[in-house]
Amino acid sequence: MIYDFCIIGAGPAGIFSAISLAESGKSVILIEKNSKIGIKLLITGKGRCNITNSEPDFREFISKYGNNGKFLFSSFSKFNNFDIVSFFEENGLKTENERGNRIFPKTGNAKDVLQILKRNLEKYKVEVLKNSPVLDIVKNKNKIEKIILENKKEIEAENFVITTGGKSYPLTGSTGDGYKFAEKLGHKIIEPKPALCSIILKENIKELEGLSLKNVNISIYFENKKLIDNFGEAIFTREGMSGPIILDMSEKISEYLDKYLNIRLKIDFKPALDFKKLDDRILRDFEKLNNKDFKNSLNKLLPQKLIPFVIKKSGIDPDKKVNSVTKEERNKLIHLLKECEFNILKLDGFEKAIITSGGVDLKEVDPKNMKSKIIDNLYFAGEVLDINGPTGGYNLQVCWTTANAIN
Ligand SMILES: Cc1cc2nc3c(=O)[nH]c(=O)nc-3n(C[C@H](O)[C@H](O)[C@H](O)COP(=O)(O)OP(=O)(O)OC[C@H]3O[C@@H](n4cnc5c(N)ncnc54)[C@H](O)[C@@H]3O)c2cc1C
Repeated sequence: MIYDFCIIGAGPAGIFSAISLAESGKSVILIEKNSKIGIKLLITGKGRCNITNSEPDFREFISKYGNNGKFLFSSFSKFNNFDIVSFFEENGLKTENERGNRIFPKTGNAKDVLQILKRNLEKYKVEVLKNSPVLDIVKNKNKIEKIILENKKEIEAENFVITTGGKSYPLTGSTGDGYKFAEKLGHKIIEPKPALCSIILKENIKELEGLSLKNVNISIYFENKKLIDNFGEAIFTREGMSGPIILDMSEKISEYLDKYLNIRLKIDFKPALDFKKLDDRILRDFEKLNNKDFKNSLNKLLPQKLIPFVIKKSGIDPDKKVNSVTKEERNKLIHLLKECEFNILKLDGFEKAIITSGGVDLKEVDPKNMKSKIIDNLYFAGEVLDINGPTGGYNLQVCWTTANAIN
């Protein structure tokens, strides 16, 4: 059989393009190397699947993807964040809006999202071939003739779609095969790099592992120059830091690491208070505590897990009575709380990156329908393309929008 469309990779982009194409009457085969489809989708949003973001302003939404966001203008105007919510709601999945306009299924379970996608694959009679890694793509001049599977089976189609994802979390099946295929077919690949990724610090911060920070400001510095900063939540890991504000800065941090010899991270644990106000606050606390030891004086100001670290770093004798802490010592403490410094060693690798930046160069893809400008019957969708956004549902939206654009 010669299918109208052969789609390589059954993640959200592959599944959704299969559904959209089959719904419009095309015969579609969807090929997946794993024994199950949508494995990565199941771990999105910590198993809850942040389907998209309800940011209402179209331009604001697109701006989240940086310079490459403009590639999405045309496809997004045809299928946007509200359209994907309607799709799931019409299929019986209620959604809810959480902090930062993040949209999740009300059931809080990514399985329900995948279930609906699977139901639609069945409804529109998409042929799904699992356990079938694609090994090679054979072209003749500027047209793909067929693909070859690991078991030597060949599949022919009028058109082919590469939706193999990026290189992050390779255990889910996303091992960067699509980049190799695209490159072999003549496409330029912008170097794939881990993005939305935790960072490793040079210091040993094991004692802080698991400390979760809310409403902090984190800035990245090279020498005395502030390069970027971000406000919100972060968490200490065994060797470094993660959490929303770190993840969202990680792509920039990666660029700075390439450019500068030594970059530092400064945490402001109390961004709502300037140095003077924080000093007043500490003085008030000390007055109330009068004769207590310094080591027992920070309970109201800081999370419990942070206190021993701060006490050690401040250099103030933990057993000193608070009323004998000097102004100089207080200054040191305030400095530590406003500008707690660490050195960044590197980003965590692809194993733990939420997304891959880089990918198929957008200049060689038609933004209206995701068609290759090099190969006549080839399309791309999802993470394999050189477009990525911050956390908050923006990356799955790339999948839904680009998948829907193919026709
Ligand atoms: C831990 C984690 C949490 C995340 N949470 C969110 C979130 O809440 N919201 C959000 O918007 N984004 C989130 N993301 C990002 C999101 O998962 C990706 O953007 C999305 O999965 C990309 O979809 P895709 O279909 O392009 O690729 P993938 O999901 O990577 O799917 C590609 C598929 O292609 C298959 N494949 C690869 N090579 C071959 C081959 N040679 N032959 C056959 N099949 C092949 C793979 O096995 C895989 O199933 C998260 C990512 C991670 C890792």
